[in-house]
Amino acid sequence: MNDKTAPFKLVCLICGKSISLLDADLFDEDSNDKSFLPNGAMELCSYGHYGTTFFDPCDGTQVAALICDECMEERSSRLLYINKQRQLKPFDIAMKELEERWKAEKAEREANPVVPQFLPEERQVDEDGYPIINEESFRTMLPEKPSTNN
Ligand SMILES: [Zn+2]
Repeated sequence: MNDKTAPFKLVCLICGKSISLLDADLFDEDSNDKSFLPNGAMELCSYGHYGTTFFDPCDGTQVAALICDECMEERSSRLLYINKQRQLKPFDIAMKELEERWKAEKAEREANPVVPQFLPEERQVDEDGYPIINEESFRTMLPEKPSTNN
């Protein structure tokens, strides 16, 4: 925590609660915003965009807000979730769907556990680690031929 080295106070945008940083010395000359880790809060950033008059310098700089976890949780019904295809959805609905999907996937894994497949220890491998397949081992890999003398 380095509240002492911050040249200004870090506070939650919503409730004004003081926010500390996790073991990062952000305000050192060599550090950048990758080491900016608010403790118990989120950093929300925007480059600005067409449609806002508040912040839109279009020069790669950003405006950031810190919001404490409690304020995020209390207002989660107002948040948006953005999936990897950049589609928007109400946050709470998206979280509920993700939780149901994770539960279903967990149940599926528990119902059908993956049995690790090991090669028999006596199987020989070449210098690249691939199994050496000779005629005998190749025959054992083939399904049994139906008997022709029935
Ligand atoms: Zn707050």
